[in-house]
Amino acid sequence: MSIRNGKNYRYGIHVPDKKSLSSEQAIEVMPAPAKLYIGLSQHIGAPALPIVAVGDKVKKGQMIGEASGAISANVYSSVSGTVVGIEDIVNGLGQKIKYIVIENDFKNEELLFDDLTDFEAKTLIERIKLAGIVGLGGAGFPTAVKLMPKDPLDILVINGAECEPYLNCDYRLMLERTEDIYRGIIYLKKALNIEKVVVGIEKNKPQAIEAFRRFEDLDVVVLKKQYPMGSEKHLIYCTTGKKVPTGKMPFDVGVCVQNIKTVIACYEAIEKNKPLTEIVLTVSGEGIKNPKNLKVALGTPFKDIIEYCGGETGETAKVIAGGPMMGRAMISLNSFARKTDSGIILLRAKDTSLASPTNCISCGVCAKNCPMRLMPMYIEQSFLAGDYKSAEKYGAMNCLECGSCAFNCPAKRPLVQNIAHSKQKIKEMKQNG
Ligand code: SF4
Ligand code: SF4
Repeated sequence: MSIRNGKNYRYGIHVPDKKSLSSEQAIEVMPAPAKLYIGLSQHIGAPALPIVAVGDKVKKGQMIGEASGAISANVYSSVSGTVVGIEDIVNGLGQKIKYIVIENDFKNEELLFDDLTDFEAKTLIERIKLAGIVGLGGAGFPTAVKLMPKDPLDILVINGAECEPYLNCDYRLMLERTEDIYRGIIYLKKALNIEKVVVGIEKNKPQAIEAFRRFEDLDVVVLKKQYPMGSEKHLIYCTTGKKVPTGKMPFDVGVCVQNIKTVIACYEAIEKNKPLTEIVLTVSGEGIKNPKNLKVALGTPFKDIIEYCGGETGETAKVIAGGPMMGRAMISLNSFARKTDSGIILLRAKDTSLASPTNCISCGVCAKNCPMRLMPMYIEQSFLAGDYKSAEKYGAMNCLECGSCAFNCPAKRPLVQNIAHSKQKIKEMKQNG
């Protein structure tokens, strides 16, 4: 066992963490609803292809969508029941996605994988791929691909920072499923052929730090409470001292980062023979009556989740999928729990800014707050002028979409949205030559 303090990173902001609304709420299992909408695109990459038809009977843990390429992921039914639809639906984030609609028969008949016959790296990675596991911290990148780097890696970093305000799902899992996380780490070490593991936890979670103290082979690193500590590049620097150069990835410096929930999903796939069919998320904010940390079946409608938490207080002005910094404001509640969901946050008008943006006053606050040392105002201005080449020159592609720039912008500029759009335009510009 070793416990040490992480390195200081100069850049980053301090945001009120609002964790206390749900930090003491143990994870509750929400009963699966009568109807579930399971998305075929809950990951980065090509959508899964449906392998069931309307009218088919399915069991919990049965594959209903098959990965359709190297960067894709399998999708499983999270209940037993009947397929009653395969539909394109515009969800609460404005994304048109194909969903498999399943009517729950409440028999809870479940299919499991066979026991593994060996625990060699190749077998573990194949199981993780089969189980449809993707980065559950929000990225949604297929985990098996991350476990097959071109060159050998030397450090596995476990991301226990959870620096987003309001969110506590990783925190509760670190307290309630410490042993399972440890076992998941052992399997990931084996899959990557890595000896060294560091677990980075922000110092506002002393009980979680204490929980991991007992594992002699883990290097527990206490991180400063700073946003966005959970972003890969910061976490790697603060836990290992390694710097990931601009345009490079963690594997370029010999590191693989895995999120707490992803580690548990790997443990369940390998040891419990379970595909990924449920997630743990935090439902919080001053706009929800009973904030909770919930385990929900994938495909559960957000409306049902909100109702299970007692409903809105009546003052809700904004609902966010994810944390308030990196999450996305929802245009409707027509969304369904995905693999990558970490929270549903309901905010009152006084807890969020609903003010219309005004002109940039060139104060430079956004640049001062940017952990990637970018000039957000210039990227935005280039984007608004349709000058995507300049947006790229100002480093748009290196933006983490962390929201630190917009946090204190006096003009309330929608910097993150505009930078995210400029990234899309730059990609299109490159594809079209
Ligand atoms: S913080 Fe806002 S107002 Fe200030 S320079 Fe940046 S975009 Fe402009
Ligand atoms: S420009 Fe990107 S990386 Fe920099 S603060 Fe804004 S969102 Fe974060």
